[in-house]
Amino acid sequence: MKTEIISPEYMKLQEEITALYEKWVRALSHQTIVKKENIDGKLPILPQADLQFNEMDYQSFLQDLFLVVKENKPEIGEDLAKMEANLDNETLSKWFHEALIVNMYYFSDWAEKNHVPDWLPIFAAEHAVRPYLHKAGLELKDELPKQGHTGSCPCCGEPARLALINKAGKKELLCPRCHSTWEQKKISCAHCGSDTQGDVIVLKLEDDERAEIYACKSCKGYTKVIDTRKLFEVPAPEILDLKTIHCDYIAQENGYGLLDKEKH
Ligand SMILES: [Zn+2]
Ligand SMILES: [Zn+2]
Repeated sequence: MKTEIISPEYMKLQEEITALYEKWVRALSHQTIVKKENIDGKLPILPQADLQFNEMDYQSFLQDLFLVVKENKPEIGEDLAKMEANLDNETLSKWFHEALIVNMYYFSDWAEKNHVPDWLPIFAAEHAVRPYLHKAGLELKDELPKQGHTGSCPCCGEPARLALINKAGKKELLCPRCHSTWEQKKISCAHCGSDTQGDVIVLKLEDDERAEIYACKSCKGYTKVIDTRKLFEVPAPEILDLKTIHCDYIAQENGYGLLDKEKH
């Protein structure tokens, strides 16, 4: 797939961070997911639940991450050191909870107060919660198909944007944030759920038969659909999301756009 829209340096950094996820998931023990009472089946599960949190784990994930970022971007070494020095237990807990809900305002404010680049605290804090999300995705796997909503991941709430055609030829939506997957009727909209004939159109790419864009005339949402039967190797979901960013541009040039908040 085309990757030239993402700089090789950024892709390398992302791949090195993704390689850390597996180690981090192994380091986390079984986590308790405490769901709020009267959980709403029409909303994603995790925003309605509390995840068990251990400062030591989270801090060690952040330290691993800072090392990788520093190796790739030595010019921000001082900013990383400043952040690390300011991460007391209270801040760690705050970071963890605000990162779970992707509170951009909180992190932007924190960056300003601590004189570090705006993108850096949310980038670090959010990557370091991924192992918790991956683990939660595995633990909630059986409950996800019962969630009766569309538009976002039934586990973590990330806007839907990526799907795979699996070996059996079925369409499976895939969350690049928590790695949850959920099956959906092939020609239907991941956003509004419409399966009315003619609503979902398939935009093909000129020079790539491995990816297609399913665009919905009804809600103007789109999903990138990757045929894994045509891939030699299926990359990690977040890498696949980045490697197919040209599809996002094509969809947007054709007037389709993500309905929800911005991507992370
Ligand atoms: Zn998710
Ligand atoms: Zn739609």
